[in-house]
Amino acid sequence: MPIVYPFTAIVGQEDLKRALLLSAVDPGLGGVLIRGERGSGKSTAARALAALLPPLRVVRGCRFHCDPDRPETWCTECQARAAQGETLTAEEIPAPFVNLPLAATEERVVGTLDIEQALQAGRRQFQPGLLAAAHRGVLYIDEVNLLEDHLVDLLLDVAAMGINYVEREGVSFQHPARFVLVGSMNPEEGDLRPQLLDRFALVVDVRGVSNPLLRAQIMERHLAFEQDPAGFYAEWAPREQALRARIEAARRRLAQVRYSEEDLLTIAGLTTRFGVEGHRADLVILRAARAQAALEGRDSLTADDILAAAALALPHRLKRDPLETVTLDFQALQEALAQAREQSARWQRLGQKQPAASEEAAKKAPRAGSPRAIPPTA
Ligand SMILES: [Zn+2]
Repeated sequence: MPIVYPFTAIVGQEDLKRALLLSAVDPGLGGVLIRGERGSGKSTAARALAALLPPLRVVRGCRFHCDPDRPETWCTECQARAAQGETLTAEEIPAPFVNLPLAATEERVVGTLDIEQALQAGRRQFQPGLLAAAHRGVLYIDEVNLLEDHLVDLLLDVAAMGINYVEREGVSFQHPARFVLVGSMNPEEGDLRPQLLDRFALVVDVRGVSNPLLRAQIMERHLAFEQDPAGFYAEWAPREQALRARIEAARRRLAQVRYSEEDLLTIAGLTTRFGVEGHRADLVILRAARAQAALEGRDSLTADDILAAAALALPHRLKRDPLETVTLDFQALQEALAQAREQSARWQRLGQKQPAASEEAAKKAPRAGSPRAIPPTA
């Protein structure tokens, strides 16, 4: 396998690195969309993430990288092998990186029934697609804004569900498909439809680094990597190892990360304040904040976890005036979060009373101890 530029050697781009790390901890979060000009290092970062991911323990001989420790998620073939009494053994492989070509057909993506096999051997065999190849790794789509809408929809669906279910000619097949979905686009080459944009959990706008010292560092590192990839990688290996271990620990910890009523009210307060429609943003912020807490080695959320998550989940979901582009600066977000936090604490203290129907009354007295206490977002 060719040596890729190490993730930990990427200079700056903190938002981008955070978004990728959060979805590495919780691939079910949804996709990450990276917007930026050509040459801003979008694909380098996605490749670097795949190389950083912990190696996979897979069922030996399975074409779908099934996890030997989670039989409930196995593909149709592994299930059949186990049902026939075969003892499935494990092997280790590197986390895959799959680059989805723009010309990919739906069959190439989801997989297809192998008609040749069916005719020659009388066996119905399923031919894995790119979704199978990407399972437990990274699926990267460059210029996702140029990919057909129905394919983007399909990819986001599978990424959210973690299962690829295919039915062809009366034969059904399913296999697990959980991957970090990373799309990239150059905003100058056309936009994504707002409905699709909203389906990406996190969006990062990558800008060129403006600090001359950092720019010098970028040149230095890239030259060093070009001249001697193996040597450069060896130099960064301890940092890569340490971050890989952090991701592994965070994945194990994730299910234990608790959130309080106050956390939920803070998130709801933020999304209401910014007039975000629908509930996807709330759920994404909660999920990303938990991944962030897990990455920091904590079992509960802090305001900073919510802030970090909101900074990646909110900007692309703000209502847009067609005549102006809304930018959400970090300070505005920070202030809004502090206010939402304060108000949710006040709600907590007031507690007990039934949530009132009117907006005004709802602000005063939601019931404590239940998520239903969140005032309606109407
Ligand atoms: Zn399998």
